[in-house]
Amino acid sequence: MSHAEELRETIVSMQRELDMLRLETTHSRTLLDALDALLVVSGEDDPFAGVFSVLLPIFDAALAIALACPSDHDDTMECVASNDTGLIGSLWQPDAQLQKALRGRIVATLGSHDLGACTAAGDLVPGEDQPALYLPLTQHSRRGLLLLLRESGKPGFDRSHVILARKFSLLASHALAARDAHRREIESQRLKQLTDQLTDSQHALAHRANHDQLTGLPNRAHVQELVEERLARKRPGEKLALAFIDVDDFKRVNDIYGHDVGDALLRGIADRLSKQIRANDILGRISGDEFVVILDPFRERSEIVSLVRRISELLHQPFDLDGMQVKGSGSIGVALYPVHGRSYEALRRNADTAMYRAKTSAKGSVEFFNRALGRSMSERQCREQQLRAAFAARMFRCALQAKVDIRSGRIIGFETLLRWVDAQDVVHAPDTFLPIASELGLLDGITLMQMEELLSWLPQLDQRFGKDIVYSLNISAIQASHPGFMKTLIGRIAQSGRARNFMLELTEESLIWANTFQTDSLPLLREANIGIAIDDFGTGYSSLAMLTELTVDEIKIDRSFIACIQDRPHQQSILRAIGSLGRALGIDLVAEGIETENELAWLLDNSGIGAGQGFLFHRPAFIPELLEADLPGNGPPLSAITQSIIERLTKPAA
Ligand code: C2E
Ligand code: CA
Ligand code: CA
Repeated sequence: MSHAEELRETIVSMQRELDMLRLETTHSRTLLDALDALLVVSGEDDPFAGVFSVLLPIFDAALAIALACPSDHDDTMECVASNDTGLIGSLWQPDAQLQKALRGRIVATLGSHDLGACTAAGDLVPGEDQPALYLPLTQHSRRGLLLLLRESGKPGFDRSHVILARKFSLLASHALAARDAHRREIESQRLKQLTDQLTDSQHALAHRANHDQLTGLPNRAHVQELVEERLARKRPGEKLALAFIDVDDFKRVNDIYGHDVGDALLRGIADRLSKQIRANDILGRISGDEFVVILDPFRERSEIVSLVRRISELLHQPFDLDGMQVKGSGSIGVALYPVHGRSYEALRRNADTAMYRAKTSAKGSVEFFNRALGRSMSERQCREQQLRAAFAARMFRCALQAKVDIRSGRIIGFETLLRWVDAQDVVHAPDTFLPIASELGLLDGITLMQMEELLSWLPQLDQRFGKDIVYSLNISAIQASHPGFMKTLIGRIAQSGRARNFMLELTEESLIWANTFQTDSLPLLREANIGIAIDDFGTGYSSLAMLTELTVDEIKIDRSFIACIQDRPHQQSILRAIGSLGRALGIDLVAEGIETENELAWLLDNSGIGAGQGFLFHRPAFIPELLEADLPGNGPPLSAITQSIIERLTKPAA
């Protein structure tokens, strides 16, 4: 061979190598692009499905089919992806070529294999002259392959394709494995997240089960658990105190201001209490308006005394709720471990008893448990039982007290005052049982009983005192806020046909705060022509300005204004102001609790008040006694002396 020929051959072979290098560079670039495309295939798709879509352009194939072996066995393959969507899902029996590819070999043929077993391939079975390329693919234990087919008659896949295919096959398997690993990593992260969430919600659930939703404080069951744990660890000589706090008049706050304000009040209280306790103490809400504070440990009784006093003062400070100033207070009872009880239940019960004593002696006060209290508690339970029995046996009766025209002494009305006459004929005053009756839900029934008694005596009363007498009935603020009860009562009065002879005495709160009274009951009362009086005027929340907004028929000025009025200049000016306002608005004024001649004299001389009630004129009496009393025919049941006072006082000075 000549030098020239040798040189030429060298150049040609270099040229070939250069071409090969170029080809490889192109391949690598193509492969990189392909891999990128492969890796972004969505996680939900079959990864094999992603592979073929990137191969079609590289290998210039007309048809690509991704086949995968379901689980481990090789006897059937399933088409998991294809650019001919009709093939997806078709089942293939691997022939010799497919088997080879499955074992990891790259096979380039002219389609001489048998695809007869393919269930759906039909006319797509590669013909004898159709070039085919088999690329094995593995993903973990999952095996599969890609089958690329060119149209019949086209040039077959050459060596460079096989090289490229080998690289691709390897790369793709690695890429898939990497993607799997990545996915597993994500999976495990997600799993961890889920576990964390689960643990969190388990904690939240446990918290929910143990804590009160409104205030976030430990609830009844949890408080018990916590205290029992503490008690179990107590050594001789170690002490603990349990303070039981009951919010005063909480039901009334709910009735008058609504439940949102009630809730806000409870939260406010929880907040104030939690600022008073030490880190080791326990604060819990054990029912609607009951809180407990456990002081653990304490040494001196004085520590507890000063703490409960502080709490009590704090609860007395008004709460600003929703822009409204709500007055609150809490009655507190305290029991000490071990002297007043060794178990949570005993301590709670005894603290509750002490609280009840505090509430009944003076709302908002503090009481420590003692043995005598234990006895009085059983008395209260006994009283409740008696009251229920009295209700069932209808042992309540009306006493009537005259309301008189203080200038003429004439009787213009009677106030109905409730009495409980027990089996021993002892007469109980309303203050001693009304609060319990109201708590027990008996009051509405009792009021209706009173109404019936009054109606049954009406003919005799008419005969004795005339048909113009107005009978007043006391209605509590809670009753006034219950439209159902009010409707029943108003209906009963209207049905009697004597509505003009009846008047309801309501407290200032009922008129101002009980919204349902204003919206539901007031119109009914007006329509029925039943009178409305404001009772105990001056002791509640109202202001004089309120009178201009409400249409009431009568104002009953509270006894506290009238007592010794002649000696109290400050009260005198208030009474004068109420008097002129009443006159200007055309509202009748009644002075309550007139007991002395001096009081009456002052009222006659100095106020425009026209009517009065009080022991000076008449003490409340049961209806039969009232009817029998030796009173002048149509005149007032006034004692001769009272009548003479009026005469003397009203006689113009000589
Ligand atoms: P109240 O409505 O202010 O009734 C007047 C109370 O003052 C009555 O006491 C009456 O006996 C008493 N009183 C009358 N004149 C004088 C007086 O000159 N001096 C003194 N010291 N007291 C006088 P009572 O009957 O014990 O009733 C007390 C309160 O119980 C009543 O105050 C009223 O708020 C309530 N009450 C009475 N009966 C009923 C009722 O049927 N339903 C409701 N919801 N409350 C009632
Ligand atoms: Ca009254
Ligand atoms: Ca009154």
